[in-house]
Amino acid sequence: MPTLFAKIIAGELPATIVFRDARVTAFLDIRPAAPVHILVVPNKTIATVNDIADEDEALIGHMVLVARDLAKQQGIADSGYRLIVNCNAHGGQEVYHLHLHLLGGRPLGPLVQRA
Ligand code: 5GP
Repeated sequence: MPTLFAKIIAGELPATIVFRDARVTAFLDIRPAAPVHILVVPNKTIATVNDIADEDEALIGHMVLVARDLAKQQGIADSGYRLIVNCNAHGGQEVYHLHLHLLGGRPLGPLVQRA
């Protein structure tokens, strides 16, 4: 079964795509948590961080560089931003297709609530 994000990448579901190349697609999060909230997603389906293979090393680096360039393009590079990858239940992962959240455009506060 293709994931929700695989369907977006294939053009079978709508999304506001802000960047695409042979390896990744980036689109606006449907429920933005900040003025800038972009998801950078590998075109090939990798379910979680646990499923990243050693040969995906360059792909993961590429995702970060795409996020860096999008931050600059969105005008948040200097004010700052956060990159987040959630993994499995305790990480709060909802969509099981690896993705990097790029969040910025306002002060984001502490990373996690301290118990
Ligand atoms: P996760 O919790 O898995 O790290 O994040 C999943 C993200 O995907 C959430 O921020 C959620 O708002 C976003 N999302 C879920 N469904 C859709 C969708 O159909 N389209 C888009 N553009 N984003 C989605």
